[in-house]
Amino acid sequence: MYIDSHCHIDKLDNIEKIVENSKNAGVEMIISNGLNPINNKLVLELSKKFKEVEVALGMYPIDSLELKKSEIDQEIEFIKKNSNKIIAIGEVGLDFKEGLETRKKQEKTFREFVKLAKDLDKPVIVHSRKAEKECIEILEELNSKKVIMHCFSGKLKLVRKIFSNGWFLTIPTCVKHSEHFQKIIEICPIENLLCETDSPYLHPDKKFPNEPANVIESYKMISKIKDINLDKVEKKIQQNFKRLFS
Ligand SMILES: [Zn+2]
Repeated sequence: MYIDSHCHIDKLDNIEKIVENSKNAGVEMIISNGLNPINNKLVLELSKKFKEVEVALGMYPIDSLELKKSEIDQEIEFIKKNSNKIIAIGEVGLDFKEGLETRKKQEKTFREFVKLAKDLDKPVIVHSRKAEKECIEILEELNSKKVIMHCFSGKLKLVRKIFSNGWFLTIPTCVKHSEHFQKIIEICPIENLLCETDSPYLHPDKKFPNEPANVIESYKMISKIKDINLDKVEKKIQQNFKRLFS
């Protein structure tokens, strides 16, 4: 079975059709990630409706900036209360794309969610735009073991650090045209890889929207670059997934 380890299925139209398409493509598990209090509730509802959809609840770094401390604390309580319904904490992380003035606040929130994932003994799915090194430092400092670096765009030196730590990297479907992600496949042991679509974003052919059925493009590229047949890649990624999520 193919697994889409990171997407935002709530942002797609006609979700029933989307889930049907993924099943037809052999994608039997879709992890949809929450971004903020309203969105977390929405993806939680969707996971109840579709058995193929598993959910990660989190706090997107940019969205968190609009919230008061009390609102963030409340959300942590909400996630704790629903911890039996979720598979991971995500999407959380740091995003310094717009500059560093919000760095302190972002780091504080990120730490709280990394600690939450540890307390719940669940993997944490990390967004690290223009803050790759900083994310890794915090995760190391807090001694996180179950880590998925999603759509990691940092230097290859940092990629090596990620898999040396026993963490995971997800290969997004845009790998079809992205040399950076092709290079990650080349240097990272298959034992540390997962696949994702980040739907509706990162379409393999630069279209919009992307959907979980396309996750097979990431598997195909791993198969091609590592010269392992597709069935074997499928099994390997499934084993990785089980190892991390059990
Ligand atoms: Zn995402």
